[in-house]
Amino acid sequence: MDGIQLKKELRSLYKSLDFVSENFLSGRKANKKDGQIYFNIYQQLGLAWEFLGLQCKHGEGYRTTRDRKEVCKICGKVKGAGESYYLLPKEGHKKIGLRRMPNSKKVFPTKAKAQIVNDTLDFHGASLTMNVSNAYRSSLFNRKHDFAIAADRIVTLKERGIECWIDQHLIMVRMKRDRKRGAIFGGFPWEISRKQLKHFPVIFEYDKGNRFLGLTILK
Ligand SMILES: [Zn+2]
Repeated sequence: MDGIQLKKELRSLYKSLDFVSENFLSGRKANKKDGQIYFNIYQQLGLAWEFLGLQCKHGEGYRTTRDRKEVCKICGKVKGAGESYYLLPKEGHKKIGLRRMPNSKKVFPTKAKAQIVNDTLDFHGASLTMNVSNAYRSSLFNRKHDFAIAADRIVTLKERGIECWIDQHLIMVRMKRDRKRGAIFGGFPWEISRKQLKHFPVIFEYDKGNRFLGLTILK
């Protein structure tokens, strides 16, 4: 929707809001039951306003209201106020949120107080989670021996049962596991026999200086 269309939509929305409020919500024109219905309509129009406002670029600046708030001249939203919804274009690049990192040296008393982002996105069938947290105290096993969980930014991607985990210290790829097959082992490649290694479909990538550049797992 372009700016002109948006202005038009907003103007007619304001008219509807005024109509409901003047005719049904002020004075004693409606009985209690009807009043509730009109109140709901007003709320739903408010929601429509919120969604239209998401499309506004606030390009005509702000005006100051009687109660000294700066609001957008087009959509009426308060300057700098947080949005409760995201509006994403169906085509093209989508962006949600800003890059967040741990932002305090403090160790917080609880996980909830340390949390900065804890969010999940289901994207065309793949699942992406973002967890950013400052350090906090945890007493997982008993209250006397609590320990500090380090600040971290953890990103996980899940697709077809495969999980890719990236945090500040580790990159892990976990294939779908069959729990019935029992114990799981691990080791650096030089600790594993050639015979065993032949079962692992992994190709290492490196440069002339033997710098590790990545790996490919064949499926
Ligand atoms: Zn605006």
